[in-house]
Amino acid sequence: MTYQCLTCSYKGVFFKGGVCPACGSANIKQLASSTKPPAPKVRKPYMLLFACALWLYLLVEIVRKWPG
Ligand SMILES: [Zn+2]
Repeated sequence: MTYQCLTCSYKGVFFKGGVCPACGSANIKQLASSTKPPAPKVRKPYMLLFACALWLYLLVEIVRKWPG
């Protein structure tokens, strides 16, 4: 858990008495405890299906336009 003083921008893990040890200001903010890893991208299965359908359509069109 990290805190930051909004008055002097001092950062520390523990602010004794809830005040900034650098400037004595009580105007402190709790920062995010840890940097969250970016949410994994959810691959949409229907997009793959859509791509397959497009490829199939392309192949069908090529076969249909095939001379002879
Ligand atoms: Zn401060």
